[in-house]
Amino acid sequence: MRQSTMLIPTLKENPADAEIKSHQLLVRAGYIRQIASGIYSFLPIGRRVLKKVEDIVREEMEKIGAHEMIMPALEPSELWKETGRWTTFGSELMRINDRHQREFALGATHEEVITSLVRNEVKSYKQLPLTVFQIQNKFRDEARPRFGLLRGREFLMKDAYSFNDSYESLDETYDKMFEAYSNVFRRCGLNFRAVIADSGAMGGKDTHEFMVLSEVGEDVIAYSDTSRYAANIEMAPVVKTYEKSTEEPKEKEKVATPGQKTMKDVADYLGHDLDKGLKSLLFQVDERFVMVVTRGDHEVNDVKVKNVYDAGMVELASEEDTKRLLGTGFGSLGPIDVPEEVDVIADFAVESLVNVSCGANEEGYHFTNVTPGNDFEVTQYADLRFIEEGDPSPDGEGVIKFARGIEVGHVFKLGEFYSERMNATFLNDQGKAKTMIMGSYGIGVSRTLAAIVEQYHDDRGITWPKNIAPYQVHLLSMNPKKEDQKQLADEIYETLLDAGIEVLYDDRKERAGVKFADSDLFGVPVRITVGKKASEGIVEVKERSTGEQDELDQSEIVDYIK
Ligand code: ATP
Ligand code: MG
Ligand code: MG
Ligand code: MG
Repeated sequence: MRQSTMLIPTLKENPADAEIKSHQLLVRAGYIRQIASGIYSFLPIGRRVLKKVEDIVREEMEKIGAHEMIMPALEPSELWKETGRWTTFGSELMRINDRHQREFALGATHEEVITSLVRNEVKSYKQLPLTVFQIQNKFRDEARPRFGLLRGREFLMKDAYSFNDSYESLDETYDKMFEAYSNVFRRCGLNFRAVIADSGAMGGKDTHEFMVLSEVGEDVIAYSDTSRYAANIEMAPVVKTYEKSTEEPKEKEKVATPGQKTMKDVADYLGHDLDKGLKSLLFQVDERFVMVVTRGDHEVNDVKVKNVYDAGMVELASEEDTKRLLGTGFGSLGPIDVPEEVDVIADFAVESLVNVSCGANEEGYHFTNVTPGNDFEVTQYADLRFIEEGDPSPDGEGVIKFARGIEVGHVFKLGEFYSERMNATFLNDQGKAKTMIMGSYGIGVSRTLAAIVEQYHDDRGITWPKNIAPYQVHLLSMNPKKEDQKQLADEIYETLLDAGIEVLYDDRKERAGVKFADSDLFGVPVRITVGKKASEGIVEVKERSTGEQDELDQSEIVDYIK
């Protein structure tokens, strides 16, 4: 491409709102522009790098037999009501009405849409397993859109969905996905780690996140220094369970005294909207203890608990962590709606840990005396305790260390959650109707792009890995007004194009200094400069990432690049 024809607006200064490198550099180098909070345009070179990531994802999906399709971004509310997520997804779901006042969601994820399609079109075990994917913009009204492409409100996601006839078959699909994800992030040149994730409750062996290791990551990973064990600390690597409230908790020293605060205080503190309801709340007890109240299906040490209101104490490593978690809404345990019929949302029945109950009525949430077994059923108590650095790893190998991570991918065994609620069944080989077993698998394509920049930059700009770079070569003529330079540069440009090499040709009538600075900012892996030795057919080549340079004869260029 001839740079003189392109829209690549570069900036000398960092935009005021850009706190992290990927945000600063992608804006400064003319890859992206913000139009509203968390909403970006991808300019031509931005589109190119995004497509590079997209194509890697696409290839790896196709390799494991997943087929690309495209689903609508407008999703009718009826489908979301079938699963209950019209309520439980909360204010992250963007909602609109059509002219007849019918309600729609702007696609935040597509489990409902795909399940509705498959329940209508797939009838027999012979059509299973089935895996489809799409690469499409998603919409989420994030409470805190920030860090440029890392947390947008409209962003590009690859989402895949699998339908299987058994849990064994789901395991096979999941393993293939896991492998494909590893390939994707390896090909993107990323330093990443697959970690045990939070399944929205306390289990976690059936879901993994792919985390890019980075200081700016919003997640904290606990990993073993010698084995492959790694977990998102959201899912509390150490879970202790107590059968009944009569049983003595084993860790007496963890006793904390709760403050007499109302849930409204807590909600106000966290910035949650009580009118919209909550799925989980955090409650700070002292600098290092946080109470968590959640509702859902839990699995704790292989014991399955259905739809309980559960409460736990979380001990954090430091006061700073407590503040950070409270500040972020505790990741996936963020606010979502509680159905109206809910009265009591929790009982902190691990008595020597916390000895309060809290409840809710139409006026809001408050503490009250409620009776376990009467006002609500207590089936399981869990004391969630976070691992600290230096603790022995749960797998018995090595000790725990902490690192920050950016969640770029998430694989999830959904089981029958959606298919059961939406009645997606098939006939097995005996002619019997069975519920489909599902999985879902997401990659944040635009977030991955930003994560790459976080790992590939220096103080002059981006240093793209070859697989992602918008072009392989940045060709520039130091002074295009000089006929010999212009002629040689034009010639090399044509030669590179003929050889199928992606080349950006800076043919602008700008000062050499401006061209060099822009070139460093863009981060194309190889720069070829046509300058003073143009008349001899000699050019300078420079590697962007290492700074190594050399002189080449015009005839050697293609071999050098290939
Ligand atoms: P997060 O914990 O960061 O909010 P999530 O767990 O809500 O992410 P998923 O529902 O697992 O996200 O979506 C699949 C993938 O989509 C994530 O792994 C992430 O890479 C990407 N993603 C999610 N939210 C955003 C966002 N607001 N901006 C950019 N990418 C996102
Ligand atoms: Mg997450
Ligand atoms: Mg999220
Ligand atoms: Mg996730």
